Amino acid sequence: MRVLITGAAGFLGSHLCDRFIAEGHTVVGMDNLITGNMDNIAHLYGHERFSFVKHNVSQYIYVAGPLDAVLHFASPASPNDYLEHPIPTLKVGSLGTHNTLGLAKQKGARFLLASTSEVYGDPKVNPQPESYWGHVNPIGPRGVYDEAKRFAEAITMAYHRYHGLDTRIVRIFNTYGPRMRLNDGRAVPNFIYQALTDQPITVYGRGTQTRAYQYYSDLIEGIYRLLLSDETMPVNIGNPDMEITVMELAEIIVRLSGSRSEITCIEPTDDRIVDDPQVRRPDITRARTILGWEPRVPVEEGLARTIDFFRQRL
Ligand code: UDP
Repeated sequence: MRVLITGAAGFLGSHLCDRFIAEGHTVVGMDNLITGNMDNIAHLYGHERFSFVKHNVSQYIYVAGPLDAVLHFASPASPNDYLEHPIPTLKVGSLGTHNTLGLAKQKGARFLLASTSEVYGDPKVNPQPESYWGHVNPIGPRGVYDEAKRFAEAITMAYHRYHGLDTRIVRIFNTYGPRMRLNDGRAVPNFIYQALTDQPITVYGRGTQTRAYQYYSDLIEGIYRLLLSDETMPVNIGNPDMEITVMELAEIIVRLSGSRSEITCIEPTDDRIVDDPQVRRPDITRARTILGWEPRVPVEEGLARTIDFFRQRL
């Protein structure tokens, strides 16, 4: 296959590039680098099956030659990033998805949308099956990401139903691993950075909110299987066995990194924890049944590898 991956210089986009190259495909990577980092794909420079185009996909996209698949992964994805770039976040989810869909239609390519567990908002149902419609505040600070991704799903389904485009939607739950930015503001990189530099660990609120964490390699496997499957309805990919509180996450990271950091509970005064989901955990029955997929990497093993990566970066 010859595939376009948008957001190619990001955490997940760059790992996807690696997977497609390793499987023998040809990859065109695209990124505007507002949150992506060329270091993530530097090892692919000069590879005969890899090329990179610096471009903002919210503008018209031109790609020469045939494409078999378009994977749309471009978007700020950490709450800090989308609070800092609210309009580009709305644009890449709406205009960027429209442009990548239009490109896929013109090339006769399969399309895969990177959606998110944020479409469920602050859920009233736990775990969340794909059939749950969500509980989202459209006008809150997180609305710029949540509603952009909900619109992205809606327009993807419209292209599927109206134009007959061959589409896939993955709803990605919290994912961590090497190549996350040290300062991206999410709990895993924040806590690891704080632990490795012996600074206080900043747990927001009382730390009772939960997330279910998956290691990036499990996610990439799920996405690869989904693209090759026939499933056109959204599929959750996440690790349901790893639902832990933010306080527990902080404790595990302090222990695994051998840190002297103290765990502190703070109340951010900015928008960071407005509408913060109180629970989150995927129901992965669909992924298990349709893709034969389930997560394999235990959280302590994945976190230990991620801590090693951060240590090297520091
Ligand atoms: N969080 C925290 N301290 C931090 C960063 C995040 O307590 O320094 C909390 C945040 O309020 C949320 C959880 O950790 O409840 C996960 O946040 P993250 O930004 O990693 O991702 P989200 O799942 O909210 O997109």
